[in-house]
Amino acid sequence: MPVDPHINVAKDSDLSPMGIYRLLPQTNCKICGETCMSFAFKLLKKEITLGKCTPLYEEEEYEEDRKALEEMLRPLMEAEMTETGLVIHEDLCFGCGNCVVACPVNVAEDPKGCAIGNGPTSDKVILKVENGKVKAANIESCRRFGEHRILCNACITPCPAKAIEFPGG
Ligand code: SF4
Ligand code: SF4
Ligand code: SF4
Repeated sequence: MPVDPHINVAKDSDLSPMGIYRLLPQTNCKICGETCMSFAFKLLKKEITLGKCTPLYEEEEYEEDRKALEEMLRPLMEAEMTETGLVIHEDLCFGCGNCVVACPVNVAEDPKGCAIGNGPTSDKVILKVENGKVKAANIESCRRFGEHRILCNACITPCPAKAIEFPGG
């Protein structure tokens, strides 16, 4: 049963299961496969990603709490973040290669390897599957990098495992 929504504090910086829980929808809908509380524990242990809670992204009423959660979780992600904010959750990635063929930089740098799905052969690509997990390189070529960066999401949306994210938005 949801707890009193008045305990939600959008700017809560308490990086703890309860601090996270307070900013979740608290509906226990189990779309993520967990209850809200176990989702909070798993987020803290980096066993699940925020994107698995789809109501946070799809329902306007949760937008403020989602942004607060992204901010709260940022320190947890920073160790794994590239300079563009890209985080790859290797524990979730199963090497399907969807992101590899979807990245416009990959396709531009290696049209034969990426566009027809053979896998990249160029060393200029950003995303490449190695030993069943995707790895990032040449991150300065990413469209989110530098002065003229854009909010490219091409590698995030086709990932069935929600293994790629940009926690900073
Ligand atoms: S999807 Fe979100 S709201 Fe639903 S149970 Fe999981 S954490 Fe709670
Ligand atoms: S954000 Fe865009 S350019 Fe950067 S790695 Fe992902 S798909 Fe490629
Ligand atoms: S789309 Fe997701 S699961 Fe597939 S290789 Fe990329 S990160 Fe891994």
